[in-house]
Amino acid sequence: MHDVPVRLNVNENSYDVPPAVVEALQKNIGEQLQHLNRYPDREFTRLRELLSQYLSTVLQKQGNGALTQIPPEWIWAANGSNEVLSHIVQAFGGPGRTGLGFEPSYSMHPLITTSTGATWIKASRNADFTLDVDTAVREVREHKPDVTFICTPNNPTGCSTPLEVVEAVLQETEGIVIVDEAYAEFARPGFQTALDRLPDNPRLVVSRTMSKAFAFAGARVGYAVAHPDFIDVLRLVRLPYHLSSLTQAAACAALEHTPALLANVERLIESRNAMSQALTGLGYSVVPSDSNFLMFGNITDPQAMFEELLAHGVLVRNNGIPGHLRVNAGTDFETTEFIRAITEVTRTHPHLQGQA
Ligand SMILES: *Cc1c(COP(=O)(O)O)cnc(C)c1O
Repeated sequence: MHDVPVRLNVNENSYDVPPAVVEALQKNIGEQLQHLNRYPDREFTRLRELLSQYLSTVLQKQGNGALTQIPPEWIWAANGSNEVLSHIVQAFGGPGRTGLGFEPSYSMHPLITTSTGATWIKASRNADFTLDVDTAVREVREHKPDVTFICTPNNPTGCSTPLEVVEAVLQETEGIVIVDEAYAEFARPGFQTALDRLPDNPRLVVSRTMSKAFAFAGARVGYAVAHPDFIDVLRLVRLPYHLSSLTQAAACAALEHTPALLANVERLIESRNAMSQALTGLGYSVVPSDSNFLMFGNITDPQAMFEELLAHGVLVRNNGIPGHLRVNAGTDFETTEFIRAITEVTRTHPHLQGQA
C-alpha cells in the first residue's frame, strides 16, 4: 500500500464518518455486545426496513414517479455489494453458464462470475465509453448470456447508461440482468434508476452499496433489490447468518443518519466538478461523470503521469485504459492538492499531454 498524503485511487468517500454518526454507531453496536452469544437476525429485518425507507427517497429523486415504495421483501443485503453480486452469480451462474459485461467496466464482475465456473463474455462499449441500445442489444443477441451486467454509473469511466438500454436488454435476453448502481447517489440530475423497472421485470436485480455515498466501505454493507422470488433464490446460496449483528447494528445506525452522511455527497459532487473544470482547463479530456470520480484522457503515457502525480504526493489510478487515468473526488484539501499537482506536472512535463 502506498503511504501517500492524498489517496484518490479507490473511489472511497473521502470524508470521515461524521462525529454524530460515530456516536450513533457506538450506541447501536454497544447494545449488541452483550448478546453476541446469540446468532444474528438471519432476515436482517430492521436493516431491510431502513433500506426500504431509504429507497423511497431514492425513487422520489431518481424515479419516474410510478413507483414510490419498495417493500422490505424485495431487498437483500450482504457484506458489501461484492458479496451481493457473488450471491446472485452463485445462484444464476456456474459451470456451463455465461456472464456478459460491457468493458471497460468494474473488474470484479468477471472475477466474481468466473469464480462460479461460469464463462465471461467481454462485450464492448462505444469509443467514448457510452453504451447505446444498438450495441447492447447486438451483443446480447449474439451471445445470449445467462447473466448480463450493466454498471451505471460505470466504473472506471464514470458515465451512466440510459435506462432505455436496460429496458432493451431486458427485452432481448432470457437471462437475468444485474444493474450495478454503486455510484447512483453521485449522479447528475436526470439520472434514472432502474428500480422503477422492477415490478415488471422479475429477472432484473439492482445492486447498490453503502460503501461509497454512505462512507461505509470499511463496514462492508451492500444490498440488492429484486422481485421477492428472486430474493428467495439468494437464500439458497448464502451462508447461514452471513450478516453479523454488529454489521446490522452499524448499517442501521448509518441509515438512521442518512441526511448527515449524504450531506458529504454534495460536497464530493462539487469537488468532482471543480476537478473536471481544472482538468479541462489544462487541456485534458474528461468523461462526463455521474460518479464520485473522473476518467480523464489526452495523456501520452498514463503510467508516467501516474508516477509524476505520486511524486507530488497524489495517488490516482491507472486502470490500463490507453491514454487515460482515473481520480476520485477528494475532500476540499485533497481536491486542491490534486489540482495543484496536475497543474505542476502539466507545466513541467508537457510531453505527457497529447494523443499517444
Ligand atoms: C465500489 C464498487 C462496488 C462496491 O463494492 P462493495 O463490495 O459494496 O464495497 C460495487 N460495484 C462497483 C461498480 C463499484 O465500483
